[in-house]
Amino acid sequence: MSTALFAGSEIWPLVKTGGLADVAHSLPAAMQRAGIDMRVTMPAYRGTLERLQDAQEVGSLQIRGQRFGVIEGRLPETPAPLWLLDCPSLYAREGDPYRDAAGRDWSDNAWRFGCFSEAVAKLACGALGWRADVVHANDWQTGLVPAWLSVEPQPPRSIFTIHNLAYQGRFAGEHALYLGLPGSLWHADAIEEFGDLSFIKAGINCSDAVTTVSPSYAAEIQTPEYGCGLDGLLRAHRGKLSGILNGIDDAVWNPASDALLPRTYGRRDFVSGKRVNKAALQAEFGLPLAADAPLMGWVGRVAQQKSSDLLLGALPQLLESGLQFVLLGSGDRAQEQALLGLTRRFPQQMAVHIGFDEGQAHRIEAGADLFLMPSRFEPCGLNQMYSQRYGTIPVVRRTGGLADTVIDANEETLAEARATGVHFENADVGGLLWGVRRALELWRQPALWRSMQRAGMKRDFSWDKVAAEYLALYAIR
Ligand code: ADP
Repeated sequence: MSTALFAGSEIWPLVKTGGLADVAHSLPAAMQRAGIDMRVTMPAYRGTLERLQDAQEVGSLQIRGQRFGVIEGRLPETPAPLWLLDCPSLYAREGDPYRDAAGRDWSDNAWRFGCFSEAVAKLACGALGWRADVVHANDWQTGLVPAWLSVEPQPPRSIFTIHNLAYQGRFAGEHALYLGLPGSLWHADAIEEFGDLSFIKAGINCSDAVTTVSPSYAAEIQTPEYGCGLDGLLRAHRGKLSGILNGIDDAVWNPASDALLPRTYGRRDFVSGKRVNKAALQAEFGLPLAADAPLMGWVGRVAQQKSSDLLLGALPQLLESGLQFVLLGSGDRAQEQALLGLTRRFPQQMAVHIGFDEGQAHRIEAGADLFLMPSRFEPCGLNQMYSQRYGTIPVVRRTGGLADTVIDANEETLAEARATGVHFENADVGGLLWGVRRALELWRQPALWRSMQRAGMKRDFSWDKVAAEYLALYAIR
């Protein structure tokens, strides 16, 4: 049996700030079902060790003079063993994996994730007696893993997945010295970026294969518009770059068995099921229980990437036309305040919950009629897939994974009963208004709307399908 080590900086349900956590939970499990002997590793952040089942220390590593305990354990419904790397002074802190409680990046992030990357490489190369045939590193926090592996005499195959190119892990060059990186790697074809140390560049340059999380995003990041300064590098590596869409976890995101919903429903009773969930959602957010008002939802970061500024520009016009809107998310403080300001102006139509709430995210997916994702760029995006699964129509900007996973309603796709959502093109307030208004026209035609809901609920976004694509990539030399 082949062995593989999957490394990431967040894993649901232990820690989650975004989509990577969901992938780190689901993909290794699917790979394990497909016959790979998987191990998953992450730093032991504060409060994570306590939540492992059958936790025991199986060894330790010395990394730059620090002791890293390797704590093996399991999570419920996760077949692959998890190795949490325990170095309390680096990871057991108040805050999230990247920031302190006040939202500032930890000043020693280069050190924290550089040491983590070195530890992952050591584990993969047999430090505890187990060797990986494949190492799967994810995002800049693990970008130095392929670099460390590249100086090994017989390295495992390395895969580097970009979940978001906007976060690159670029630090002053002297960090390469502190982190003990071999001098042979200090050049632009390995870890160096104009005198700085670039974690993501290391991952791209030094790995055997680079993937990102949708075919469209894989193509987009090779253009100056989406390449975040690395489009040239990615074009140079296009022979080893591919896009593989994420899946969704059917055990967690399934309206027929979702314990977080006031009422579960399936493909046969979604009309009545969604009616109950919509009323409950309106009540939860303190909005009038209007069955005949279209209800639009948003779950996600309030950030430039997600076009929350465009949302703010478009909302007054949309709300004046009778739409209801609920938002769950957090991020840019000024925009959060502006959103709260709008709720005071339109208290009957709009409600906002600034925060992170897993249960409420599920209830929005189930209770909303439409779900808005106007992202400027979107590597894959998960909520638009959840929406389709829950019979909620996504309105998305035609970019990245949104373009690849939502089937736009046009004459042809509607006639063939394949349409599952609405695309719009322009990343401006006019584009967003155009998309939502087109969706509302469809909403006023119940037969068409239901056919779109049905088509969305039927789609297969399973991880087992995704795992088959990664298996080909993991193929051992
Ligand atoms: P990104 O990783 O860019 O933030 P994704 O759509 O890929 O965006 O993944 C975001 C994940 O985080 C989804 O599972 C979404 O439901 C969840 N999420 C985002 N914000 C919140 C929130 N405020 N409360 C609950 N879940 C959230």
